[in-house]
Amino acid sequence: MSSMSVPTITLNTGSDMPQLGFGVFQVPPDETAQAVTTAFEVGYRSIDTAAMYGNEEGVGRAIASSGLPREELFITTKLNNNAHGYDNALRAFEQSRAKLGLDYVDLYLIHWPLPAKDAYVDTWKALVTLQQDGLIRSVGVSNFQPKHLERIIDATGVTPALNQIELHPYLTQEALREFDREHGIATEAWSPIAQGGVLDDPVITSLAEKYGKSPAQITLRWHIDIGNVVIPKSVTPSRIRENFELFDFELDPDDVVAIDKLNKDERTGPDPDHFNP
Ligand code: NDP
Repeated sequence: MSSMSVPTITLNTGSDMPQLGFGVFQVPPDETAQAVTTAFEVGYRSIDTAAMYGNEEGVGRAIASSGLPREELFITTKLNNNAHGYDNALRAFEQSRAKLGLDYVDLYLIHWPLPAKDAYVDTWKALVTLQQDGLIRSVGVSNFQPKHLERIIDATGVTPALNQIELHPYLTQEALREFDREHGIATEAWSPIAQGGVLDDPVITSLAEKYGKSPAQITLRWHIDIGNVVIPKSVTPSRIRENFELFDFELDPDDVVAIDKLNKDERTGPDPDHFNP
């Protein structure tokens, strides 16, 4: 299967982003280049890393040795929590860009809003400057709630291209997805299979049987069918391939609804309103 089969969504900047990418959270730095190389071989072209993951250099090595044309790739990284504030953000971006070995980054996100620090508006202004300078194609955020999004939009007139949030069948994020949709912000799902936590669910396993697919494929296809960008992580080559094989089937509308109904508002990660490390 080639990368041509991955659908794209058009961001508010006019850039096209693959709807399926490869996440590298918790991939050890010395294994990252190999995992990303495997992902490229399978056909992934979008990679999601972060300064916090400590593995941007590994992503950069895989990009450099891939021989793939830069314009075929879509590389996302994120500003670390210790780098909020205008000047800090400019410096942090430059470090990430250098580690990735890129002239520009496709998407740069504020990793967490850290409301108690109250510096995300100034941080956002730095990202807008970097975009105007051509160093970032699209600017976005992660773990932002509507009130955080409203504040940065009001302060700058610049709407984030994308909001990357925890989202899976046990946390369907209806209200936040609706807010994003109304504002033309793409929604990207992190921990899309809840780090494996939804794969034993009886509804998911029965759909896996019905479609002749794995529980992970059913869950990831649900994300695609409801319009999310999705970035599953694996260091296991067979799973990296399995998670890419989503485009030879789609779920019946009733089955999409059955998965929607699994929502329990259950987070695996921190609550953004109260996460201020
Ligand atoms: P995922 O929901 O992608 O789950 C990853 C886990 O599931 C790993 O343990 C992996 O194991 C396992 N797995 C992967 N594929 C399969 C499969 N087909 N069958 C069974 N098990 C499987 O969790 P993540 O938390 O990693 O989220 C994905 C990405 O989202 C991250 O890598 C990161 O890029 C991003 N993220 C962003 C956050 C943010 O705050 N912005 C927070 C968390 C994640 P193994 O690797 O051993 O194969």
